Amino acid sequence: MLFDTHCHFDPDADIAGEIARARAAGLVGLLAVGGDEAANRGAEIAVSLAPGFAFPAFGFDYQPHNPRRPPRLPAFDSPGGGVFAVGEIGLDYSHGDTAEEKAAQRERFVAQLELAAEKRLPVSLHCREAADDMLAILREHTSPVLMAECRSGALHCFTGPADFAAELLPLGYSFGISGIVTFSGASALRQAVRTLPLDRILVETDSPFLAPVPRRGHRCEPAFVAYTCDRVADELGVDREEFAAVTTRNALRLFAIPSAVAPL
Ligand SMILES: [Zn+2]
Repeated sequence: MLFDTHCHFDPDADIAGEIARARAAGLVGLLAVGGDEAANRGAEIAVSLAPGFAFPAFGFDYQPHNPRRPPRLPAFDSPGGGVFAVGEIGLDYSHGDTAEEKAAQRERFVAQLELAAEKRLPVSLHCREAADDMLAILREHTSPVLMAECRSGALHCFTGPADFAAELLPLGYSFGISGIVTFSGASALRQAVRTLPLDRILVETDSPFLAPVPRRGHRCEPAFVAYTCDRVADELGVDREEFAAVTTRNALRLFAIPSAVAPL
């Protein structure tokens, strides 16, 4: 029993094939995550092909081609909901961004945190070289309701350090562990993972990126989340199947996925 909490679908790729292989690998569901127009459309297609298995998150991430003031997608206001998270959203200062570009990222990020709070939806967060600004913004804009339920969202592709996680835990966030944890040079990340409470650990692929060992260098897809989950279980010294069940339960609770998907 596995759940990929962060993957992207290219609208022009073989999405049906990726979903079939994910089911065959033992996944009970996945969060199909947006981030820009193409990724949002890919998530929509995945959900139309696999309702009850693919659950969508829509949002506009840090990339400069995204609008500074993101449009509110109609899906957020459709009766009956059907959106499970806002994402991915966040800050990325790793591209030598100017002060103006960073300010645009923060404005876009805050607007979508406010949308998430209004809709009582968790967020899928991206953070790179922007930990201080991210923490300051999350402290101010995380929904107190979601925080109390420990359903604020997931810091996707967590790479450490443990101190950053320690700041996010009281704000109600969980941590998505990606294929990076399987890389030989990732011992600092593996140590940071040991400091996380079990009920806040999620596994993810971030496909089509970051394929885990032993598929490193290939195009990543949701089925590969199994390698990542096994590697983390081994690191923590817990039974692989049990750990898969724990992380799946964490994902279903965080994103309020209907319980029909997997008996808990
Ligand atoms: Zn992503």
